[in-house]
Amino acid sequence: METIQSIGASHGFGLGDLSIYTKEIDLEAKIVNNFQKTIESITKEFESKVETLKGENRKIEAEVLESYIVILEDPEINSNLSTNSTLEEVFTLFEENAKQMESLDDEYFAQRAEDIRSLCKDVIISMQDASSLFELQEGTILAAEDLTPTDTSNMDLNNIEGLIIKYGGLTSHAVIVAKNLGIPCVIGLNDNFTRLKNGQKVLINGENGEVIINPDTNRIDELQKKIKEQEALVLSFTKKKLEDSDLDLRVNIGSNEEIDQFNSEVLESIGLFRSEFIFLDSKEPPSLDQQISVNNKLSKKFSGTVIYRLLDVGGDKQVEYLNINKEENPFLGVRGIRLIESNENVFSSQLESIFKSDLYSRVKVMLPMVSTLEDLYTTRRLIKEIAEKEGKEPLPMGVMIETPSAALIAEKLADNVDFFSIGSNDLTMYTLAADRGNVELRKYQDPLHPSVLKLINNVISTGTNKGIEVSVCGEMASDSIASIILYSLGLRVFSLSPSSAALIFHTLSDSKFIRNKTPLNIDEFAHAEEIREYVNENN
Ligand code: PEP
Ligand code: MG
Repeated sequence: METIQSIGASHGFGLGDLSIYTKEIDLEAKIVNNFQKTIESITKEFESKVETLKGENRKIEAEVLESYIVILEDPEINSNLSTNSTLEEVFTLFEENAKQMESLDDEYFAQRAEDIRSLCKDVIISMQDASSLFELQEGTILAAEDLTPTDTSNMDLNNIEGLIIKYGGLTSHAVIVAKNLGIPCVIGLNDNFTRLKNGQKVLINGENGEVIINPDTNRIDELQKKIKEQEALVLSFTKKKLEDSDLDLRVNIGSNEEIDQFNSEVLESIGLFRSEFIFLDSKEPPSLDQQISVNNKLSKKFSGTVIYRLLDVGGDKQVEYLNINKEENPFLGVRGIRLIESNENVFSSQLESIFKSDLYSRVKVMLPMVSTLEDLYTTRRLIKEIAEKEGKEPLPMGVMIETPSAALIAEKLADNVDFFSIGSNDLTMYTLAADRGNVELRKYQDPLHPSVLKLINNVISTGTNKGIEVSVCGEMASDSIASIILYSLGLRVFSLSPSSAALIFHTLSDSKFIRNKTPLNIDEFAHAEEIREYVNENN
């Protein structure tokens, strides 16, 4: 038995036989289909896959395949290759194009370069007539350096028990697909990836990132017990129990797929609606009608309150058609509500879509990336203007607390807003000055660091004293130990992924630390690990 520590990216446990996915190509192989014939057949194949993916609501994968079709139609590629081109010539031309993209030294074009390389492999494999369909037996743990949309669309992911990705960030395509389909996934094995061999029995833990090679029977029994416990936990989490508790659990929603897949008889409110996907999923600004129809869809699925976060782009999420300048430090740049100055019409359209939808009476508007009081003014004015135009009452407005500045001026903010929601993902990033997407900075990304907890404590106590609601909608709300700490600091409203709700409800209801009202003075701790140990020991 051998254990590799990686990073948990999609919840759940997976046990199965390892299959390593590689896409090596052989330029010496015999050509069976000429270049032109191959391009025609791949384009047709992609077009039909796009339809299938759209039908399955796998919009992001469909869009990437659509962009591959555009590359295949590019005259730069077509006019330089012919029916007689060799594999070497095809490879060289695609590679030159990829290198040109890369030389532009821009993240967007670097990704396009990867797309071109991935497509080149598909073309060459197809010219050799080697099937690009990767057969997956039932009970497979799939390991790959990374997975592109073409890769995933060539696989029957229903047979996968888990996914191991060598590199990958928490927002990479592979992770998004894993989360959407409920497949446990770990990422960031880096050099340890070479320890994996085809056919090994492997167990992965999507929570803590453990990869266990050849687990002994004890570990397997332990895992099976855990899976059964989790299933029982979900069944025991009922509406009545939630209503009888002092907890308010809500869900985070951030894509069409998540709206479609939401299926709970217990949870009914959205604590964080990440409206960005409506803009990121589209090549041009979404129309008012498109936005209204998303809101109406939400209205049908959720009977409770919806905290609608206004557009939070900039940072790692770029939208080409918006008025955003290229920046050296986008996370410290014109991100979130700071965009309202240059893109007022976008924020107005979001607000208008809320006023005009069935959801209106249940929406509270939330502002992302607030750091000063001035950040509130334009939005407040817009809400008022649109409310008057529509002949309706203005919407309640709250702020995300995700910058140290907002946490430190919580008292002033509280006098001006209806609620706080703590965005611990960004709050941790900005407090510890460590990019949340950089896997090498793991040790600086713990929201239990006393510096972050001190800010959170200030926000919870200020909100409570001022009589406004405080929730946490960052990922720490779905971490067991963190949730106990948050509860002990006075938090009762948690917004989390729907699949974590039962576990957190159970953790908080059963916590000895909470029952015994164990004292928790953050000033006594210097490290995140000490706090974690203290809670563990007393729980
Ligand atoms: C956060 O920053 O904690 C948060 C919930 O917002 P997002 O993850 O969408 O930035
Ligand atoms: Mg955030």
